[in-house]
Amino acid sequence: MAESGMVIIGAGEAGARAAVELRARGWPGTITIVGEEKWGPYERPPLSKRQLLADDEQTPVHILREEMLVEHNIRLLTGRPAVHIDRSGHFVEMADGSRLRYERLLLATGARPRKLPITGPVGEKLIYLRTFDDALNLRPRLAAGRRIAVIGGGFIGLEVAATAVERGCAVTLIEIGPRILMRAVPSEIAALMEARHRAAGVTFKLGAGLERIAETADGFELLLADQTVVRCDEVVIGIGVVPETTLAAECGLEIENGVKADERLATSDPAIFAAGDCCSFPHVRYGGRRIRLEAWRNAQDQGIHAAANMLGANEPYRAIPWFWSDQYDLTLQVAGLPEFGVSAAVRELGGSAKLMFHLEEDGTLAAVSGIGPSSAIAKEVRIGEKLVERRASIDAVRLADPGVKLKSLL
Ligand code: FAD
Ligand code: NAP
Repeated sequence: MAESGMVIIGAGEAGARAAVELRARGWPGTITIVGEEKWGPYERPPLSKRQLLADDEQTPVHILREEMLVEHNIRLLTGRPAVHIDRSGHFVEMADGSRLRYERLLLATGARPRKLPITGPVGEKLIYLRTFDDALNLRPRLAAGRRIAVIGGGFIGLEVAATAVERGCAVTLIEIGPRILMRAVPSEIAALMEARHRAAGVTFKLGAGLERIAETADGFELLLADQTVVRCDEVVIGIGVVPETTLAAECGLEIENGVKADERLATSDPAIFAAGDCCSFPHVRYGGRRIRLEAWRNAQDQGIHAAANMLGANEPYRAIPWFWSDQYDLTLQVAGLPEFGVSAAVRELGGSAKLMFHLEEDGTLAAVSGIGPSSAIAKEVRIGEKLVERRASIDAVRLADPGVKLKSLL
């Protein structure tokens, strides 16, 4: 076995950022990233947006190009799943039997799509979207005039619906809940997004569980719980993800809605850290509530933060949760955790743009969410995020008044 070093399992957003940070902070030894996909780390957000539209893009948007790997002296092993962690021996075992010794180990294994319980020939034809290869599979199926059924009104479902409509497809979106974006987005903001989809021609079946899918001579027939039948050429599924905890569980690490980490992102084994979609952690800004985030910036920030703590910084992770989604000409952004709010102040920004401030019982700002053209909301949400970070307590009337500059409240 080669010399002991820093080992990162998962060649994704969090893993890539962690590797660069370890070197930037002066780690002199080996840094190895292990990835099961054939590609090195790449950006996932374009997979449901630009890369579903652009027929000519044959490679993903790489996060670590070859010259960066050389510059930072990072070893990248792709197409190589890690299959076992030996915690007492401090090594990781790969599928081919080779071993990597570690000083510190980072689990950045992400998440995998939750599957519908449909097997056999029909199950194999259902389309999920998580990887670049999934996007390559889906893209040619979104040809103009085709009928696309999307199951799940979350981010994947809505972004795919918007892209498919843009390509000229006829889209029906089926969501089991009473409205779209139930999990992360306040209902007023979700309603505006739904209206934009309806205006673009998307048909919604809300509160409609799927009962059965059958293959027909020219596609599929979906039977919903209310006995509605939807006929389509392709079925795309976006019903959430499951954190990838297989390795962590197998080696006896604590699991709680993901790999259980403390506020420093250390797992129940002090030599092993976790970051990104796979990691659940207590958030210090929200009273230590244990959460798990599935968002691009969190994966970056946690990768960087975990790297610092792998080198002994010993700092709690404090970054305010933030994510965005682009659909048509609208951007939706949320900073903070809206579910901590008990009341809200709404600021109309004109046109289709709107901000919502989510206030805790004592008037502290828990979160800000916004929808509209990116140029109208991005700066405002950024200021809102700073207010959330500072635990600002601001009068709801002033928050709602577009005449009061948000910057003046900082
Ligand atoms: P991942 O990027 O999933 O990387 C984990 C990697 O680990 C994977 O490549 C996996 O194969 C590998 N792995 C797992 N187990 C092993 C093993 N045993 N051995 C080796 N390798 C292993 N977020 C936003 O905020 N805004 C967006 O607009 C947005 N759009 C998105 C669009 C799509 C289509 C998708 C799928 C996600 C999007 N996200 C978005 C979410 C964001 O991309 C994720 O939160 C982020 O990629 C998570 O990074 P990660 O490093 O934790 O996991
Ligand atoms: P998601 O955002 O969790 O949404 C899944 C949706 O599907 C939920 O509304 C869920 O309802 C619904 N659902 C669950 N089971 C269903 C069923 N049987 N029939 C119909 N609807 C069902 O997950 P996702 O959209 O699949 O996205 C996957 C991952 O990619 C997430 O990690 C997401 O954050 C990430 N992603 C992010 C972005 C972004 O941030 N812009 C974009 C794309 C992807 P319930 O809540 O009631 O279960």
